[in-house]
Amino acid sequence: MPRRPHVLLSAAVSLDGFLDTRPGDERLLLSGAEDFDRVDAVRAASDAVLVGMGTLRADNPRIHVADEARRAARLAVGSPEHPLKVTITHSGDVDPGWRFWHHGGRKAVYAVGAAAHDRARSALGGLADVHAVTEGRAWQEVLEHLYGSGVRHLMVEGGARVHTELLQEGLADELQLAVAPLLVGQPDAPRMLGPGAYPGGPRHRLALVGTRTVGDVALLRYAVRRRPGPDARATAADLAWLATACELAADCPPSDTAFSVGAVVVAEDGTEIARGHSREGGDPHVHAEEAALAKVPGDPRLEGATVYSSLEPCARRASRPRPCARLVLDAGVRRVVTAWREPDTFVPGANGVELLTSAGVTVVEADQFAAAAMAPNAHLRPGA
Ligand SMILES: [Zn+2]
Repeated sequence: MPRRPHVLLSAAVSLDGFLDTRPGDERLLLSGAEDFDRVDAVRAASDAVLVGMGTLRADNPRIHVADEARRAARLAVGSPEHPLKVTITHSGDVDPGWRFWHHGGRKAVYAVGAAAHDRARSALGGLADVHAVTEGRAWQEVLEHLYGSGVRHLMVEGGARVHTELLQEGLADELQLAVAPLLVGQPDAPRMLGPGAYPGGPRHRLALVGTRTVGDVALLRYAVRRRPGPDARATAADLAWLATACELAADCPPSDTAFSVGAVVVAEDGTEIARGHSREGGDPHVHAEEAALAKVPGDPRLEGATVYSSLEPCARRASRPRPCARLVLDAGVRRVVTAWREPDTFVPGANGVELLTSAGVTVVEADQFAAAAMAPNAHLRPGA
């Protein structure tokens, strides 16, 4: 299977499914300050943000991480201050005056065909890296090239044509849809998605993985496409590896302020790739999955590997900006087996299972090991 980033489509629509009012009208603001801040957080968590030419032409957006603390957090983990900014053009007809080129981080333009490539390159000069892709397989090439450039999480902010094409080609993994409480009612206004052949047709139901109220909009999160993955049931081999992870948890240096966790990373052929435990090597903050994955960066076996962790990988943490669920995703691991869901003892909302499953990772919970996983943490109590 070609390697490509996790593709998250992000959009805001009216109750009647429109992205905006008709062309020429003043731009419609669908969501308020809270939702713009949510979008800023998603941008900050992405390696790259893609916006289509139609949106650049119509809205002339800046596309950058606005929040200073989020930019500082990216820098602190060695990421660029802003995500890579990406667009795609079929005509090569780009305006070097657009704000897109003059804000935020590095820019990449994918031009479909040699003529579009030459036109975009001469229009933009040094404002962006311009790459040529092939008509007919443009999106596959864009995603493979982004992956090759280190992009693991791609946020796509529209517009309609880009969302429609990625969904129809089965290349989107996740959809985050903010539904605004207003009605546009104009037949010539742009809809979020155009007509066409979507995989599975109207009988295919996306998996709703979360709903949330953000200001006065409803945020709906869907897993669009579950990548083909191994079975979600624990095998005998899974249980043996999980037992090893629980033994590692029991051997952690004791702590009154953090969980004791063990983790083992096992290749598809059943051989161990790496193992780790909390506070390994005298580092008071290191987590088990983090310690294990840090030993084998970029190992090609990780894509078919399973991570066994006595406690679910965290989605938030107090000590470091990159939580373990994110590290698992970034490593390309597609399967996690765990014994115990993290209680809100130290960090509220630390649950990584939802983050992992919404990104298409298979998570197996083998609660027959919950007691073993919990034993080294029995002295930890909320508020203690
Ligand atoms: Zn962690």
